[in-house]
Amino acid sequence: MEELSVRQLAQGLAHRQFSSVELTRHFLARMQAHRHLNAFITEMGEQAVRQARLADQRIRSGDHGPLTGIPLAHKDIFCMQDGKTTCGSKMLDNFIAPYDATVVQKLEQAGCVVLGKTNMDEFAMGSSSENSFYGPVRNPWNSDCVPGGSSGGSAVAVAARMAPLATGTDTGGSIRQPAAFCGITGLKPTYGRVSRYGMVAYASSLDQAGPFGKSALDCAYLLQAMSGFDDRDSTCMDEPVPVYPRKLDRSLRGKVVGIPDEYFSEGLDPEVRVFMERAIAWAEKEGCIIENIRLPNTDLAIPAYYVIAMAECSSNLSRYDGVRFGYRCREPKNLHDLYHRSRSEAFGAEVKRRIMIGTYALSTGYYDAYYRKAQQIRRLISEDFNKAFQDVDYILGPTTPEPAFRIGEKVDDPVTMYLSDIYTISVNLAGIPAVSIPCGIHKGLPVGMQLIGNHFEEDKLLNFAHQYQQATDWHTRCPPGFE
Ligand code: GLN
Repeated sequence: MEELSVRQLAQGLAHRQFSSVELTRHFLARMQAHRHLNAFITEMGEQAVRQARLADQRIRSGDHGPLTGIPLAHKDIFCMQDGKTTCGSKMLDNFIAPYDATVVQKLEQAGCVVLGKTNMDEFAMGSSSENSFYGPVRNPWNSDCVPGGSSGGSAVAVAARMAPLATGTDTGGSIRQPAAFCGITGLKPTYGRVSRYGMVAYASSLDQAGPFGKSALDCAYLLQAMSGFDDRDSTCMDEPVPVYPRKLDRSLRGKVVGIPDEYFSEGLDPEVRVFMERAIAWAEKEGCIIENIRLPNTDLAIPAYYVIAMAECSSNLSRYDGVRFGYRCREPKNLHDLYHRSRSEAFGAEVKRRIMIGTYALSTGYYDAYYRKAQQIRRLISEDFNKAFQDVDYILGPTTPEPAFRIGEKVDDPVTMYLSDIYTISVNLAGIPAVSIPCGIHKGLPVGMQLIGNHFEEDKLLNFAHQYQQATDWHTRCPPGFE
């Protein structure tokens, strides 16, 4: 069952080959069997079976859509009234949200069954899922390696076949990088495509929710159900949502694919480069026109991102004061002590580092030197993309400079850790969509390619990805031992 696509699962449900309850129990059993990967913070077995029963009723009565009865996992950043929403932090270890995030609500309306909430870097800050209060997530391809982050638990849930689909969020690469490290497909939509209402905020001008699946077609179904206008998020765009799954069969003939020089420079692992060259050769064979392009401000993306993201997070995380949300220290001596100890005791090291750097960057006297400068660079990066998209349909390159690294390898060196986001971060600064697709395996670890599109061109990205997946079988590879 776990190898079936979302479409096959829906057909199986519609033809009564299995029920949603059976499907749900199957995936719950797999979650239990693979607990050592630490992909879930909360398993929601009981609620899931209840939801599956309702889905089965809907299917019987003919009131169902393509996702009715399909199980999925939510990143533990989405607020849900059922169960806890921890965001990977001790700060929210006891937090039960008073409302559901729009994404949660929409997927519930679609009839999805929620298997559980997935593990992640604390407040989505990280590239390895090692910064979780609940311990590191392990990569099913090699359990000594990280699965990427921050949505590592969601990527692992799909890669290890514990869930057919999962939600994630991407502020600087947190969907695409774990998708690449785990050998699955993950898409970061255009900023404003999916509502952020009820999604715990990290850096609000960059955060965006998106789908994980085994294939582009599976992601198309999930994206379809997640997207759309929401008046509770003022940055959510009122743009029509195409029926993504129907947009994937178009030929790629004549499409122009830009290859940025900057994404193929020294830092790139030679083996990853070989897989990229093969993918480019495939695109050419399909009738695409390949063009070399420049994205000259790429090397400024990481410094600009880490100033902006940290500035925004220092402000967003000020709400955790020991009074209104989550953790409160024991026996505070006075108000100041309450703030001080609640925050000191409940935030992890990386979160504290970022709050301090962000606060510094926003303080009088430094604001112009850092924050304003970073915003100016952000504009330049956006303009690089605008210019490129005048001539090309797609921009193609690696998702990450190298495959998954070892657990512990980069934790003590934040700058090296930050550098692993080099190819994903500019996309968030520009607010455009991008997808990561598996395109090779090197020394037993998956390699991902990233395809970047212009604003609201998710359908074009999924079209390319689907065509590639019709011709190749990288996306069907399952980590050994998880078949
Ligand atoms: N790794 C990046 C960071 O730590 C991106 C994280 C994300 O996309 N949430 O900020």
